[in-house]
Amino acid sequence: MVKAKVYIYANAFDGFPKAGDLEIVEEELKPIKDGEFLAEAEFLSVDPYMRGYAPAFKIGTPIIGGQIALIQESKNPNFPVGKYIFGQFGWRTHTVSNGLPNPKDAMSQYVLPDFKGLSPSLGLGVLGMPGNTAYFGLLEICHPKQGETVVISGAAGAVGSHVGQIAKLKGCKVIGIAGSDDKGKMLIDDLKFDGFVNYKDKDFRKVLRQTTPNGIDCYFDNVGGEISSTVISQMNLFGRISVCGAISAYNEKNPKASVIQGPLTMKQLKMEGFIVTRWYDRWMEGINQNLDWVKEGKIKYRETVTVGFENMFQAFTDMLKGVNYGKAIVRVKSIVK
Ligand code: NDP
Repeated sequence: MVKAKVYIYANAFDGFPKAGDLEIVEEELKPIKDGEFLAEAEFLSVDPYMRGYAPAFKIGTPIIGGQIALIQESKNPNFPVGKYIFGQFGWRTHTVSNGLPNPKDAMSQYVLPDFKGLSPSLGLGVLGMPGNTAYFGLLEICHPKQGETVVISGAAGAVGSHVGQIAKLKGCKVIGIAGSDDKGKMLIDDLKFDGFVNYKDKDFRKVLRQTTPNGIDCYFDNVGGEISSTVISQMNLFGRISVCGAISAYNEKNPKASVIQGPLTMKQLKMEGFIVTRWYDRWMEGINQNLDWVKEGKIKYRETVTVGFENMFQAFTDMLKGVNYGKAIVRVKSIVK
């Protein structure tokens, strides 16, 4: 009998998540039936949406999330033993699944394509949902053109660091916004961004203006709030804004920001929100393009790895605090074979 460890939502988050808000419970899994498989998690993802969606969580239910798991037993020919899969199984070590799509979640599970020798963990980041968020969210909404200035908030994280590199590939001038000068150094030295602004700088508005002398044509918004109101107030005529997330507000009880309808109207800006599964019918296009760019050395990635399933909550809150560079993940085993 396989026992799974599962995180459940024990207490409603009240502001920043606290130890005790989540609990680990054990669940006995039944032997697999025809059509089912058993998968063991090797890498689990911690993402901002797990905090953003929390108001919809019910107490006592498992925490949602994606993982890369290895198929251990199978009576389903589409999910053979030994294959790595992405599964939207939640924060749990073992899962029995029937492999059928979940009508409530487009990207419920799929066998990873051939990553050509790269770590399967990248299926949680640059070759998975965040990578596709960068690819589709930038190109399909902002339509960046050569020579334009693209500003990205949350720029040193999984999505933002990838967006900036795609914008560079499109010939744009790329400015990242993040919360530490060390992250800015990484963006400029390693990822070849053209500029960086620390949103914690008391002169943020002024420094942003100085760093974007030609104004801002495209804004990829990961954070919302006052940072975004400031960026939007400095945009050029007919600028485009891709609204990906609002992490600055996820832990705030009463988030506030300056009104943006003035610049939206006067500069005739286009602002559009999206959920990446809008492009689920093109999912493998995004993954294959990102894989090609990674293999060609055109997109670099970074992972911040926390080891141990029991440390997932720590990894989650570290990510919310900005400890991560690139994708924040948890590796279940301490030794990699
Ligand atoms: P990141 O890897 O960027 O990690 C989160 C980062 O947010 C932290 O590292 C931290 O960096 C920053 N942050 C935390 N608090 C604040 C704050 N108050 N103000 C500004 N920045 C803050 O996460 P992802 O790349 O996975 O996600 C980025 C955004 O994209 C999120 O808003 C997420 O919800 C959204 N998203 C949306 C999707 C969609 O389909 N629309 C899909 C995937 C992600 P720092 O040190 O710079 O503060």
